[in-house]
Formats: sequence, C-alpha cells, structure tokens
Amino acid sequence: MAVIATRDIEMGEEISVSCMHIIPHCQKCIVQLTNLASDIEFGLKREERQALLKNRWGFTCMCALCTSDAEKIKESDKRRELIRQLRDKIRQGLDRDDFPSSLKWYRQMIKLCLKERLFPQLGEQYWVLAKLYSTVGESTNALKYAQLAYKELKRYQKAGEEMDGVIAEIEEAIPLSELQS
Ligand SMILES: [Zn+2]
Repeated sequence: MAVIATRDIEMGEEISVSCMHIIPHCQKCIVQLTNLASDIEFGLKREERQALLKNRWGFTCMCALCTSDAEKIKESDKRRELIRQLRDKIRQGLDRDDFPSSLKWYRQMIKLCLKERLFPQLGEQYWVLAKLYSTVGESTNALKYAQLAYKELKRYQKAGEEMDGVIAEIEEAIPLSELQS
C-alpha cells in the first residue's frame, strides 16, 4: 500500500484517513454531469459527522476539525452548508443546461472544498470543471483544468487508486502532448 499526502505534513503531525464516503458515485457523476456529487455524506457538518461515525463505526471523532474551538467549527459548518447548497444549485443548473451559472457555482464549490480540505476526488472535480469550461467555449481554461485533473489523477493512480476510467476519458478527449505541456 502506498500513501499519498494531499498537503504538506508538519513534523510530528498525526496522519489520518477519512472514514466518510465523500463522493462514492464519482465515476458515475463524471460520466453523467447531472448526477454530480449526488451523495449524502458530502460536506456534512460536525454534529452530522459525529453522529454518522458513531453510528457506523462506534467511535467519537477526535480529529483536528471536530475538536477545534466553537468559533472555528461554526465557520467550518457554515462553509459546508454552502458547499451543499452550491452542489444542489449546480445539479439544478446542469439539469436545465445553464452551464455559465453552473460553472460559476462549481468554481465556488471547489474553492470552499479546498478551504475545508475536502481533497479527495479533486482530480475528478477539475475534470468536471474542464468540461464545463469547454461547454461555455473557454478553451484555455478548459485545457488548464484538464491538465490539472490529469496530473492529480495520475498521482492517485500511482498510489494504486482506481482512476483508470477517468484518466482514459481525459486521454481520449485531449492529445497527450497537450495534457503534459
Ligand atoms: Zn472529525
């Protein structure tokens, strides 16, 4: 097994893995843009995470976020609430083919995900963003995010993650020379 860090690790810092199913239907979401992040565990607030983990695994989460001060938790919960609102707006926007609005919300959602350190599947999220840019005719940004997606997904693939489907989709859509430039 290989472990890939999604950010710098401080000296002496504990390394943890997530027990949440963040985007369990990611493969499907990518293929069908409209099913984007249709999971229920995405962006849960502290109380919801605590209840779910207690229920499923029988432990009380003592991670840095769950044990931080009330003010920080409140801010995090607010961002997560926003993330879920944006996800729903994006889903509705895509359903009615409103790509410019969906793109705007998607960018906001990714920004908040990064702030909340909801890193898993970032590569797939970048790929969705690339496709949205392509749909609204912004080819420079489309390529930029396709390259980012490809780099990110390859990194996870090296760690043994199942990324073949999305990687193949990107390679089919964009020539390798452009992806790696
Ligand atoms: Zn926690």
